[in-house]
Amino acid sequence: MTCIFWHIVAHELPAEILCEDNDLVIFKDINPAAPIHFLIVPKKHIDSINGLDEKNAGIVSKMVLAAKRMAEQHGVQSGYRLMINTGREAGQVVYHLHMHFMGGWGRKPVIR
Ligand SMILES: [Zn+2]
Repeated sequence: MTCIFWHIVAHELPAEILCEDNDLVIFKDINPAAPIHFLIVPKKHIDSINGLDEKNAGIVSKMVLAAKRMAEQHGVQSGYRLMINTGREAGQVVYHLHMHFMGGWGRKPVIR
């Protein structure tokens, strides 16, 4: 229970949190691969998609609906990508389920 995202969810590590509710935390990816790049993270620890079952899979629809809201809020409904890497071969780095929200390619690059 001490993965890095657990610490972010518990506000024990700093992150640029954009949105939080009872189930999810959304914060900026520290290594953005798109002009807009957030991580949508369930508060409950699940290692990956491989850790989902009938009882906990409802969180995924909450993640997707949160992504839709973020797209509206940031004005990128015209194009955004949602990605869940599962397993080391696919580039999963943190073993706490998370969805990458990427978009904003139609905008000028954000200077960070
Ligand atoms: Zn975790």
